Amino acid sequence: MSNTSFSDLAKRGLHFKTPSFMNATVSAAESSPLNQDDYKMLAHGDDVEAIAAMNAVPGVSRALSGVSAATAEKMFRGECLGDNIKLSPKQLPEYYDLLPPICEKFGVPVPDLFLETSPGPNAYTFGDKRPFIVISSGLLEYMTLEEVQIVLAHECGHIMQRHCLYSMVATCVELGMNWLPGSALLKLPIYRWKRVCEFSADRAALVFSGDLDKVLKTFVRLSGGRFKHTQNVNLDAYREQLEEYQSVLSDKAAEKLMQDFLVMHRTHPFTSVRSYELVKWSKSPECSYLSRKIGTFQEPRCPKCGAAAQRKGGRICPNGHFF
Ligand SMILES: [Zn+2]
Ligand SMILES: [Zn+2]
Repeated sequence: MSNTSFSDLAKRGLHFKTPSFMNATVSAAESSPLNQDDYKMLAHGDDVEAIAAMNAVPGVSRALSGVSAATAEKMFRGECLGDNIKLSPKQLPEYYDLLPPICEKFGVPVPDLFLETSPGPNAYTFGDKRPFIVISSGLLEYMTLEEVQIVLAHECGHIMQRHCLYSMVATCVELGMNWLPGSALLKLPIYRWKRVCEFSADRAALVFSGDLDKVLKTFVRLSGGRFKHTQNVNLDAYREQLEEYQSVLSDKAAEKLMQDFLVMHRTHPFTSVRSYELVKWSKSPECSYLSRKIGTFQEPRCPKCGAAAQRKGGRICPNGHFF
């Protein structure tokens, strides 16, 4: 069974309410969905390279996609139907309706969306032929609806880049390495790629949102806890923290080594690093181009006083703040 696209659903008369916080973005008529070239532009360079390397052996990813669709995808989708709640226009639409507008802008079919009981703020995507997204009940407790949508955009970023498929290719390589001496070290580049994938998915979240501060606040909930505790977060101080962590990484080789050790086997980078990378990318022409294309672009604003940048792409505000 094929995926249901946003326009198919619209044709069948199923109605999606656009969440009110999205009304500021330009209408669909003025924007166009992202395409394969855009996906490449969005992805982190190391992610593109790693995927190209995995595609170097012809047929492997296609074969795995087929095997996975017939086995793991079916099994885990069944598990979700068995143990979670499948969201839809008629099932908790206040959450489900967040998803189709993202897929429309990203040019991907709308995946199934499940809600699972789990206390932490979590979301993941599984599958390649018929991917699905799972969000945790904790995510809904920690974040505003707008932030949940940013997380869903991050997950759709993984779908755009087919990370789940390539993650399976990487896992096969990893299993093959178990026989080799020093395999723990040989596997490190695989873990590193998995962390780089998160940067690509974060970029998708930013392009969809068009508002860096909102995405940074989403990261703050992951690091600091529920909205009710972190709603007054000082983003200036948070940005200073990101810089401080970068100086830990760049000042002393020994300290960097210790930090590298901490993340070496993690599939996700530290949130500070994700935020820092995203702040950097938010200033890139690629970010402007892609968000303009889908109609979410906002002129950069000074993080200190909120004034619009003095010139296009500029990093100075009328009050003389550099950013
Ligand atoms: Zn992710
Ligand atoms: Zn300013």
